[in-house]
Amino acid sequence: MRLLVRLVLLVLVLGTVTAGVLYYRAGSEPGPTLEIRSPERVIGQRGSLELLVGAPGGQLTRLDVTLDQNGRSLPVFALEQAADGVGEVRQESTDQMWIIRPVGKQAQPELVAGTAQLVVTAARPVFFGLREAVSTVTRDLEVRLDPPRVGVVSLHHYVNHGGAEFVVYRATPEGVATGVRVGERSYPGFPGSAVGLTDPALQVAFFALAYDEDLTTPMSVFARDEAGNEASTPLDHRPFAKPFARSRIGIDLRFIERVVPAIAANTADLDVDSTTPEGLLDGFLRINNDLRRRNNETIAAMAARTRPEMLWQEAFSQLGNTQVESRFADHRTYLFEGREVDQQVHLGFDLASVAQAPVVAANRGVVLFADYLGIYGNTVILDHGLGVQSLYSHLSTITARTGDMVDKGAELGRTGVTGLAGGDHLHFTMLVGGVAVNPVEWWDRKWMEDRVFRKVREAGGAIGSTR
Ligand SMILES: [Zn+2]
Repeated sequence: MRLLVRLVLLVLVLGTVTAGVLYYRAGSEPGPTLEIRSPERVIGQRGSLELLVGAPGGQLTRLDVTLDQNGRSLPVFALEQAADGVGEVRQESTDQMWIIRPVGKQAQPELVAGTAQLVVTAARPVFFGLREAVSTVTRDLEVRLDPPRVGVVSLHHYVNHGGAEFVVYRATPEGVATGVRVGERSYPGFPGSAVGLTDPALQVAFFALAYDEDLTTPMSVFARDEAGNEASTPLDHRPFAKPFARSRIGIDLRFIERVVPAIAANTADLDVDSTTPEGLLDGFLRINNDLRRRNNETIAAMAARTRPEMLWQEAFSQLGNTQVESRFADHRTYLFEGREVDQQVHLGFDLASVAQAPVVAANRGVVLFADYLGIYGNTVILDHGLGVQSLYSHLSTITARTGDMVDKGAELGRTGVTGLAGGDHLHFTMLVGGVAVNPVEWWDRKWMEDRVFRKVREAGGAIGSTR
């Protein structure tokens, strides 16, 4: 009997000790995982906190986010606010969730310029909910409340419909992202050093008024710092209407039989039934629409790979001894056996001379692309810097190699009929920020002098004056 009592006591003591040890050790279990995705370094008027919180089953007992500055602690978020409709709480997985909340002067009005520390503390239940495991992360931030300054320096901006223009402007503080906004599109700016300007506040940008944009499309120059503070100023300019041609292009079965199977064979995920005239016409229409759009997206994406320097010092040149067969922004109606089957806009110049004529670089640049590209067939794309690029297509052979720096006049390949080409010719396109523009301007020495080089010289650079 006494033995039994002692045994029970021993079990009780051991159990209590074990529970105590477990309780104690639960306190050192890891707290929730915390990952701050934004803000990264700077906050301004408006910004957002993006926080990834992880705990088993998503169970939290506490989550507090504050901005600590000058001895004060400004609330950003607490767990109790999860359902208040501000920002967003999104489940990433059963164990993880995103907390997205506004952070900055608008959301924390007491915030002042200077430094601040973002403090995130979270806790999850452990040991049957009797204890918490806590974790904390902090991030040092700079609070920047003044928007950047931006002002246009160059004079006289004349923009032809479907054409390009150039602007010199000042933007401060140093390091802000700048550019030109035309309607919904934006064109990146580059440091003035790209054209030999020494004042670090000067920036330059090429921009375009696309053939399919309205003449009244608003244009502005903007500067945005990494805190999201943005300033912009209207860009004083004069738009000019330009007539675009309309043409009717007759296509026959012989043409479709030649181009459709060849393009399909060179293009991944394009299946065409080449055994019947209906299948071929259907293939042609998909190539002329879907593949054209995909190819144009590929071309536009090249803009992101432009160099921050102007690689040329004179006007571009049109391929020598060529006849113009089709102009920029020709609105084409396609007729098959006299029946209207399609409409497209031709975004380049068709230049023809003799078969397999040498194709040369219109100006100095770097070979960005030298490969087969759907409706364009064998294609070379050159980057001339500052978002300006030129495209050469329907080539029979390509001799240019990706990555090569080529001088004006260097041979890139030979003309041909690859892609959607009716006969041997060069299809030539100029691009600004991925937008096709009229090459005629770029071939014109007077335009280059007055639109570009004059503005560089007036801002203190030395270019083009004696050429
Ligand atoms: Zn063409």
